Amino acid sequence: MITQFLHQLIDPVLDFIYPPVCPVCGEMMETYVPVCHGCQLLMKNQINIRHHQSGDFNHLDGPFFLNDVITFWQYSPKIETCIHLVKYQSRKKLGDFIVRMLNESIQSLHLPYPDTIMPVPLHPRRFRERGYNQSQIYAGAISRITGIELNNRLLKRIRYTQTQTRLSAEARQANVRDAFTIKRFSHMQNRAVWLIDDVITSGATINSCAKACRDAGASSVIGIGLSRPQLYDPAISP
Ligand SMILES: [Zn+2]
Repeated sequence: MITQFLHQLIDPVLDFIYPPVCPVCGEMMETYVPVCHGCQLLMKNQINIRHHQSGDFNHLDGPFFLNDVITFWQYSPKIETCIHLVKYQSRKKLGDFIVRMLNESIQSLHLPYPDTIMPVPLHPRRFRERGYNQSQIYAGAISRITGIELNNRLLKRIRYTQTQTRLSAEARQANVRDAFTIKRFSHMQNRAVWLIDDVITSGATINSCAKACRDAGASSVIGIGLSRPQLYDPAISP
């Protein structure tokens, strides 16, 4: 209560001295919002729901373990900036804001709600280095909006893997093969799962997570990512 009162008192003064700036386009804003009105409009207009079927992941070796993979944006400079701000600068409020922006699109899918939502996990060592897991920010926000149970602990990354950014599809797949496991199989039996990640590129990571869920008895696994590059060409995409 006192904190709220102090904020009401101090924020206008701070806004006057340091006017809030949109972290995406750098424009000054009148009040503090995670991104300016113009960027919000553009981001909303760029929403493009896509279902990526197994055929879109033909470059992966072996079975595909996901029932569906859904993304909401193709990569654009604004979306990339937002995703990087959440990933590397811990902008949790921005992550929550992005999910609120996507809520209408999520509801428009008319997907049956799963039993549980799980973020693609970081290895504990990477989690300590970064201090948070950006996918957990999005998964937490989806859980709060939908009321679906969030489980941050069941799916574990058991191998510390190098960053995928500059790897080919084959190397990505080798990098994350058997990198994930379910801690308690009994908690996954016959459960429907949504796996949440920020960017889905080759699909190797989310497929490896889905395999761990399926091995532990999950009844269905749907991958939900914020963004996927428009044309994923394993030969040229990073
Ligand atoms: Zn802006």
